[in-house]
This record gives sequence, structure tokens and C-alpha cells, in this order.
Amino acid sequence: MNQGSNQGTIEYLAKKLSKELQECNDEVPVGSMICEPICDHTSKKNPSSAQYRILSLCRSLPKKEKDPTSHSEINSIRVACKKKGSERLPNCIMISSLEPCLMCSGAIILARLKQVYYFASAEKAPGLRWILEKASPPLSSENKRLQFNHYPELFLLENEKDSYRLLLQSFFQQKRIC
Ligand SMILES: [Zn+2]
Repeated sequence: MNQGSNQGTIEYLAKKLSKELQECNDEVPVGSMICEPICDHTSKKNPSSAQYRILSLCRSLPKKEKDPTSHSEINSIRVACKKKGSERLPNCIMISSLEPCLMCSGAIILARLKQVYYFASAEKAPGLRWILEKASPPLSSENKRLQFNHYPELFLLENEKDSYRLLLQSFFQQKRIC
């Protein structure tokens, strides 16, 4: 992790994740962090000032690790669960550069993450948004089989959207030149 505080508002932490991803390697720049709330009374009155502490910050490393499941969301859940000594992270939030894929959405639901914030939507394949649309209550009778025991809240972070898209574009442009 680079310098700078490892705690702050969601807006601050999202910027921090964005900066971490500027450091290029061979992998598509995708990163996630898990953060836990820091109790403070002022944040109850003003939710956007709520403070969080980073438990984990991981990138997707499928090439390096020769592992198709090495997505930043899975990696960051693993590190945070170890740190907390629990298989569940019920009060924690995830900030992820990309909307979680189907595999990671399953892990997010199993970990009971409270909220997920992301910079860019999954455009080609269905992701967490699609799952929540399909399976969120209230369910129609024909959809009753699709039900989870936990529903994370999902938020798009508009502020980071454009700079992240540019980063992805330049990564793939670079790939084409090489
Ligand atoms: Zn994934």
C-alpha cells in the first residue's frame, strides 16, 4: 500500500484505490478494498462523512498467479476475513473498480458484505447488479426459487467513473501496441 492514511470517507478511499491502480503491470488494472466502519457519532447525522478503515486492498492477478479465480474482490475478501478471524464481514463495505462478476458476487453474498461501491459497470457480462435485479425481494411467484439470505447494497461511484475508464482504455491501447 502506498503512503497516505488508510482510513477516511468512502470518497477518500475510492481515490486511494484509483491511485493504486495507476501503477501498471501486466494485468488488467482491477482492484478492490474491504473497509470496516470506524465508530464515530458525527457520521450518524451525515452518512457521507462516515469514516472507514482499510482491511485489505488487492488487485486481480490471474496471470501472475495462474489462477482464473484471482479476482481483486475474492483476494480482498480472503485477506480481510483472515484479519478479522471470521468467514463473514457483516459490517464491512467493498470498494471495487469494476462491478463484481458473477463469481465474486457469490463471494460477496457469502461474506455478508453490507455495501459494494464500484467505479464502472460490467458491460459485456452480467454482474452483481444483474443478480440483485433478478433476485431482490419482493419476488414474483415464478421467481421464488431465486432468493438469497443476504442482499448487499450496490452503489456506482460517479466521481471515479471517467478516470477509471481512461485507465482501462490506455491499458488496452498499450497492449495493442506491444
Ligand atoms: Zn470477479
